[in-house]
Amino acid sequence: MPKTATEVTDNTQSQFRVTGEIPVPVLINWISVAAAPLLAFFAWRSLDRGDQLTPVLLTLFAALLAGNILIYAISRHAAFHRRAFMVLITTLFTYLAVNAVEDGSAIIWLFAYPPIVFYISEARVGVATCVMGLVGVMLLFSPLANLTQLDVSYSTNFRITMVLALAFEMITCYILDRSRRRSKLGLLALASEFEYAAKHDALTGLANRREALAQLEAEYERYLRNGRPFTVLLADIDLFKNINDTHGHHVGDDLIVLVGNTFLDQCRKVDTVARWGGEEYLVLLAETGTDEAVHIANRIREAIAENAVMVDQKPIACTASIGVASIHGQESIDRLLQRSDEALYLAKTLGRNRVCVHQKQAPV
Ligand code: GH3
Ligand code: MG
Ligand code: MG
Repeated sequence: MPKTATEVTDNTQSQFRVTGEIPVPVLINWISVAAAPLLAFFAWRSLDRGDQLTPVLLTLFAALLAGNILIYAISRHAAFHRRAFMVLITTLFTYLAVNAVEDGSAIIWLFAYPPIVFYISEARVGVATCVMGLVGVMLLFSPLANLTQLDVSYSTNFRITMVLALAFEMITCYILDRSRRRSKLGLLALASEFEYAAKHDALTGLANRREALAQLEAEYERYLRNGRPFTVLLADIDLFKNINDTHGHHVGDDLIVLVGNTFLDQCRKVDTVARWGGEEYLVLLAETGTDEAVHIANRIREAIAENAVMVDQKPIACTASIGVASIHGQESIDRLLQRSDEALYLAKTLGRNRVCVHQKQAPV
């Protein structure tokens, strides 16, 4: 299967991120810090009421939340940080509800739960925990709870309103979260489309000049580090103006695409094939010396001459001239490109449909 331009050039991750969104670990840390004084306040209030267990447990929750922040700061393990936080707040909210803390009014804190879980976890986790929470509250409010030791003296009106309002809030949170996730996915898709358009040529799908220069710079950095030279092929379709004039611009366009695909077919995945200009192409042969590059260039040149586009059932073919230059010493990318251009010019003046090499050692 022929390689596509995307496969050849997309060797970097997308540089786009959705900005303005609060990262989950940051939100967890904010909530944990905000929870500390609240837990201390309610621990102090419970102490006042002669409740021995609640102040200890609330203080323990505050300590565990702080510990979770600390572990994340050291390990940067986001999944553990999130899961530990989920377990802690789920246990805390269950305790507040089941033990009727603050004369049972602490159950109102359950309303804080749905927006947090939907934001910090996957939608299905949010739905599952909310449904379980709602079922839990309904059981707590049901006659079944009377069978236990729980002191649940809520009025019937309160129970009905609490369950309905909680269900309403959970559904609203689910809808808003779905919309947020969809907008985020839409934005990411749009960003990757822009990223693709910024790096690729619209006609051929090859890397564009800007992307070719970026890849050249990256390869140059590699060369400076490991000393393994790379080679540039600068190719230009011969007498292309005649093809346009004789067969029309659209046939010219088809040939430009065909030649681009021929380059892709003949090159490796690690190489960059770019449309450098109108009917000019640049190939960056990574970690390739001059001899091998000349061999590849000749193979490409022959393949270009063999391929043709069909116009009125007649094959229209073209040839290309290719200039070859390998990086030497400390020469700049500009100088390398200039040398490949000089080699291409030589190939044109020597009669076209040939490969010429710029062998000159650059001044170091
Ligand atoms: P040489 O062998 O010296 O390169 O001759 P040439 O005719 O190829 O060179 P010249 O620079 O005179 O002509 C290049 C032509 O390429 C002129 C321009 O109209 C055409 N061209 C540039 N971009 C496109 C394009 O995207 N589509 C088409 N169909 N033609 C293009
Ligand atoms: Mg040209
Ligand atoms: Mg030309």
